Formats: sequence, C-alpha cells, structure tokens
Amino acid sequence: MSDTIFSKIINREIPAEILYEDDDVLAFRDVSPQAPVHFLVIPKLEIPTINDIQPNQAELIGKLVLTAKQVAKEQGIAEDGYRLVMNCNADGGQTVFHIHLHVLGGRAMSWPPG
Ligand code: AMP
Repeated sequence: MSDTIFSKIINREIPAEILYEDDDVLAFRDVSPQAPVHFLVIPKLEIPTINDIQPNQAELIGKLVLTAKQVAKEQGIAEDGYRLVMNCNADGGQTVFHIHLHVLGGRAMSWPPG
C-alpha cells in the first residue's frame, strides 16, 4: 500500500495537533479547517477508501464514530451539534487516500452540501 500524509502523521514524521490516540485510531486537527472546530479521525490501519472496508473491520469503523463522539464532547461542540463526513473517491471529494472521518462543528452547517 502507498503511504499517505496520514501515515506520516501516525509515524510522527510530520507534525499534527493530535487530540486523541490509542492503538487503533488517531484524531488530529485538520490543517485547513472548514469550521471553527474541524478535526479528523483515522484508523491507524491504512484503508484507502470506503470501498476498501472489509466486514471484519466493522468494529474499527465503529470506533471512528465513537472517537468522533468523545473528542467532539471534549471540544465543546457535542450539545450544539456537529457534522461527520467521510468522502469517497473523486465525486466524493476525497484527496487523501487513507479513510478519515471529518468532524466539523462550532457553527451551523447548511444542507444540502454543495
Ligand atoms: P478529503 O478531501 O476528505 O480527503 O480530506 C482530506 C483532509 O485532510 C483535508 O480537509 C485536508 O485539509 C486535510 N489534511 C491534509 N494534509 C493534512 C495535514 N498534514 N494535517 C492535517 N490535515 C491535513
């Protein structure tokens, strides 16, 4: 598998503002925030896109959401609300091919997305 910039963050080869880490997942602030609070939750296992997720990875994928929930609370956006986004491939707007959950909050979001 090809290394992405997120592998370099996991391996501490490039800096990031890390908000949470355990053996399975990492949460860090997005370098180009689209909301007052914008962080990413990634599995340490490199899975390029949603299309590559396997049934035996269901627990790991669930852990991304549970981590998003926990860090959102710590960041003070849980009560007002927030948005979780996971982009897939070109039409989804994916630019980094290591799956990641965007957590966006701190302002009201519009719907539908553009
Ligand atoms: P996506 O377009 O869904 O693949 O999202 C990739 C996200 O990664 C974008 O929101 C970028 O701003 C973010 N990003 C890219 N490089 C870094 C980095 N070095 N540290 C933190 N976030 C990054």
